[in-house]
Amino acid sequence: MTTSPKASVNHRPTAITARSDIQLNDGKKIPRLGIGVWQVGEGESPAVVCEAILAGYRLIDTAAAYNNETGVGQAVKAAEVKRADLYITTKLANDRHTYDETLKAFDESMNRLQLDYLDLYLIHWPAPKRGTYVDSWKAFKKLRDDGRVKSIGVSNFTQDHLQRLFDETGTVPVLNQIELHPQFQQRALRDFHDKHGIATESWSPLGQGKLLQNDTILDIAKKHAKTPAQIIIRWHLESGLVVIPKSASSARIHENIEVFDFHLDDDDLTAIAKLDREDGRIGPDPDVYS
Ligand code: NAD
Repeated sequence: MTTSPKASVNHRPTAITARSDIQLNDGKKIPRLGIGVWQVGEGESPAVVCEAILAGYRLIDTAAAYNNETGVGQAVKAAEVKRADLYITTKLANDRHTYDETLKAFDESMNRLQLDYLDLYLIHWPAPKRGTYVDSWKAFKKLRDDGRVKSIGVSNFTQDHLQRLFDETGTVPVLNQIELHPQFQQRALRDFHDKHGIATESWSPLGQGKLLQNDTILDIAKKHAKTPAQIIIRWHLESGLVVIPKSASSARIHENIEVFDFHLDDDDLTAIAKLDREDGRIGPDPDVYS
């Protein structure tokens, strides 16, 4: 049986602050803005994550495949912020898509992170050629039921992949982390998420930095006396998305969270809506990537 729990996702929020959360369909909450640490080396990851926590970030997005879970865990341990006020996400690697391997991979991630519990565990990619993400999802449900992870979700799932999870397990992920930025806005998938109470989290939210020279974004940045990165991050927030820009530079980490003192107006939103392109994807296609 498919369940479609109600969650207040993807509505344009009126007042957003660095501390405001999105309500998930399992009753838990996730911060709207976090830092992503893909391509942050294990060695530099403790300093980067400590800097982010000092700057006010509470959500840290890592993955087994990023090879920096140990460093992320060290920063969480060293932080002066209580564990309960931090929100840690990690992801299952594609080569662990069986029930038993998923449970083992989770233990390995937790050993690296040195955490008592995880806030959010994601299946990193559906890897449909392997065809066994439903087995991993069943293991995810066990990890959640055992209290080892608070919330379970997916990443890079299309409507078809989500529908298969609903049909075969009846359990709806709390969130789908997908490639999403002004050049690739994923409106159909976001509508599907809304219908099923799934929060949308944007990866490569700045288009891996490629959108920071876009003329429309530069014009809007000039108008608000903000930087292009701040305009794009604000657009994600006002679109009701969870957003996890990556930076390893202290100045940019601070810049990317200074987005709570201005609003985009209707003209800005209309202009950014026009940047959407059917061929705007930058990363891999989830239907073929494994
Ligand atoms: P991004 O869109 O966050 O862009 C990062 C790039 O922009 C970096 O080169 C960075 O130096 C630059 N940048 C950041 N802030 C800037 C600023 N203020 N001014 C100028 N340049 C700036 O790209 P990303 O790292 O691909 O995505 C963010 C996070 O999303 C990742 O770290 C990771 O956590 C997650 N992610 C997930 C998946 C997935 O499959 N689930 C895939 C890719 C990324």
